[in-house]
Amino acid sequence: MATETATVSGHDVTTITCVCGNTVSKDGLIQANSEGVPVYGGESTPVPPELAEWPADEDLYTLCPSCGRVYRDAVIEETGTAPVAFRVNVTAGPIAEAIRVHWDLSS
Ligand SMILES: [Zn+2]
Repeated sequence: MATETATVSGHDVTTITCVCGNTVSKDGLIQANSEGVPVYGGESTPVPPELAEWPADEDLYTLCPSCGRVYRDAVIEETGTAPVAFRVNVTAGPIAEAIRVHWDLSS
């Protein structure tokens, strides 16, 4: 099976158009860790239990909350292409809950 690839321009992760059609300005994209768990980017601590801590190595991924496809930021920044790294379940379970908390915090 061929690797799915999102559309991206200028090596900029914020310009991703996900394979499913989602964008930052449509349903939004969420910064996540290497397991696809949304990371907490806020200033205050502690990190909400549903979210992941900001990765110490800054190895960030971009999660599409619409379909669960995850892209690796470093690949996009280096190559200007956005292959799907892996896919997570965004309809149920801990990542779905983390997405809900993420939007609650950012609204
Ligand atoms: Zn998507």
